Amino acid sequence: MTIIGNPEIGLYTGKLPKGCELCRLGGKLVLFITGECDDNCYYCPVSDDRFGKNRIFANETEVKDAMDVIYEAYRMKALGAGITGGDPILEIGRVIEIIDKLKNEFSSDFHIHLYTTGRYVNDDVMKELVSAGLDEIRFHPVKELYLNAVKIALKYDIDVGLELPAIPNEGDKIVRLVKWAEENNVKFVNLNELELNARNYLNLNSKGLHAKHGITGVEG
Ligand code: SF4
Repeated sequence: MTIIGNPEIGLYTGKLPKGCELCRLGGKLVLFITGECDDNCYYCPVSDDRFGKNRIFANETEVKDAMDVIYEAYRMKALGAGITGGDPILEIGRVIEIIDKLKNEFSSDFHIHLYTTGRYVNDDVMKELVSAGLDEIRFHPVKELYLNAVKIALKYDIDVGLELPAIPNEGDKIVRLVKWAEENNVKFVNLNELELNARNYLNLNSKGLHAKHGITGVEG
């Protein structure tokens, strides 16, 4: 298997997901749609001033509504947006409205992907997301039970992937999830380097995880 890519940025095999391609070009607006989340990962990197708070940020600017998001998309000449949180599904009405408005403003080619744990993803949610024009959905299955949501998403005409934090000592779990993804025709799996920050460093340090390289990358 060929590994392709600049190791300073990342490594990949096969074809990059469209959301990643546009991100590497600097073309993706990062839309933090809410800090609300009903999970509680010890490695959660979301800062204290965002986690659990019903706040919206377009890139690093706090915004109030879809018009502010469109303004930021024009300002950065965005080619698409990645919707993150928290768990965006907890504000599904806001998500649908913003996807709809971004697609209307910039055309259906404006590529939109969304991150979720899958905790609240069911057929009703998927139908709404797909009919609004969502292009790609990425699951961070905090619990393996949430893989049921991935199975639901796979029934729809949309790109489906997994996003897994590369946690040292959890290699077996990662391999199991990658195999599951392959067996279930999940389009891609992204492994994210685990990083220490002001929110999670005490939890990570208490598990013996320390920064090793770069500014915050965890050893191992
Ligand atoms: S699912 Fe995401 S936002 Fe929620 S606690 Fe885990 S890392 Fe944080």
